[in-house]
Amino acid sequence: MADNAAIVAGVEVSTDHWICGRRVSASERFADISPVDGSHLCSVAAGNKAVVDEAVDAARKAFPAWAALGPEGRLPVLKRFAEGIKARAKDLAAVETMDNGSLLAGNLHRVVPRAAQNIEFFADWAMTLKDHVIESPDVINHVRYDPAGIAALITPWNAPLMLTTWKVGPALAAGNTIVVKPPEWAPLTCSLMADIAHAAGLPAGVLNVVQGIGETAGDALVNHGDIDRISFTGSTGTARLIGQAAARSITPMSAELGGKSPFIVCADADLDAAAQTVAAQYMNAGQVCLAGTRVLVEASIEEVFLAKVRDAAAHMVVGDPRDGATRVGPLITQEHFERVAGFVDRAKADGAEALWGGSPANFGALYFQPTLFRHVDPAWEIAQQEVFGPVLTWQTFSSDDEAIALANGTQYGLAGVLFSRDEARAMRIASRVVAGTLWVNCFFIRDLAAPFGGSRNSGIGREGGSWSFDFYADIKNISVRRGSFGQTGG
Ligand code: NAD
Repeated sequence: MADNAAIVAGVEVSTDHWICGRRVSASERFADISPVDGSHLCSVAAGNKAVVDEAVDAARKAFPAWAALGPEGRLPVLKRFAEGIKARAKDLAAVETMDNGSLLAGNLHRVVPRAAQNIEFFADWAMTLKDHVIESPDVINHVRYDPAGIAALITPWNAPLMLTTWKVGPALAAGNTIVVKPPEWAPLTCSLMADIAHAAGLPAGVLNVVQGIGETAGDALVNHGDIDRISFTGSTGTARLIGQAAARSITPMSAELGGKSPFIVCADADLDAAAQTVAAQYMNAGQVCLAGTRVLVEASIEEVFLAKVRDAAAHMVVGDPRDGATRVGPLITQEHFERVAGFVDRAKADGAEALWGGSPANFGALYFQPTLFRHVDPAWEIAQQEVFGPVLTWQTFSSDDEAIALANGTQYGLAGVLFSRDEARAMRIASRVVAGTLWVNCFFIRDLAAPFGGSRNSGIGREGGSWSFDFYADIKNISVRRGSFGQTGG
């Protein structure tokens, strides 16, 4: 097969850019290696400034017509786009698994349906933003959610399809045209997404995909200068660089970044449910931004709860992510594997005790054992920095104030988990934990109408429901003096 397409998990995928409704090839390419088995999946077009310029130009030209359609004109094509994602669920799930090592069953049953929902939910929501009127004594305020222009969408490898559609849905529904820069470690489902959008009838230039390396293609995109919104999901370090570019061009930026989320377990909690949920933090080898990786346990139940977590963690089978019994698949690359192993080695050197795990798994090259560290000082690196691997820390608290202080004791504020049967206590603690999302007696349940984002170094802004449109739309108030149009002036 030629360089510009590949068969991955039996699915044909283009490895070229998608610009102005056609594939654009490149002589410069980068290797896409599967973390599942180390196989070379394909070589992917490596975008540069010239390709970014072409994509932004296509998006700029397509913008007036797409914007002019209004939410009702965009609705049918976005609904067909969502249906197209559902129709190719098996292909998308299989390709995502080979590309980033995430669990096949999870991709099929949760990620792909959610990707389709990301498109249709925001298309529907955009319809509710018309005719937003605020009546005041002297004027009538007609609030408009106008399209902003071109949105640059940059996403990471741990959930490319889900995270990219989470941006594509509201950006398109708001009437923007877009340039997507997929993650270089897992770029393929974004390519399939472009085919699906095209088959759904999305006009040429409305959705463009520039493949490439972050430091070149991503950098050229955020520094282009004629971009109206930058939506970024990825690491805090990269956000600092992108933020500088956004500051130079005064471009609004939304950032969903890393985390080191607390998982607080009170003595009055349903300990069985809490233990199962702690073990679930190992899913996808802990490469989940929202994972509650710092387990904070009320001291009075430490030993009984530890036994339950040990039992639950024993079921976190390490293996091939295509196997239904697997709970913990591979880390994404050798580079990332070494990063995770480095964190583990330094935690041991600091004096943390690995109650289980702490070494590579006896499976394939990139697989690491689920690990739990006890006797962790809150100041140590392992309690402060995001590992992004199957590594949890364990600390105890003796009062709610202590739990809250530990929970808030990092630079991050993405999410948190709290288990307690005492509603008043749970709400008291939850309200004082610094986090964009705090799950009580549950984990990972998302309503797309609810706000999502991170505090502190975990992000800038909120997306979801109306918050997405506060970002992706250009909000204008047409404030009309009452009676100034005679009979028709209100
Ligand atoms: P990363 O920051 O290295 O890369 C993310 C994206 O940015 C990639 O597409 C990359 O190519 C691009 N990029 C890199 N350098 C760039 C530059 N200079 N200019 C423009 N673009 C550039 O992050 P990653 O390693 O791919 O992802 C893991 C991180 O993402 C973790 O910190 C994780 O917590 C975070 N994450 C956050 C969320 C969330 O919703 N808050 C979700 C998933 C992952």
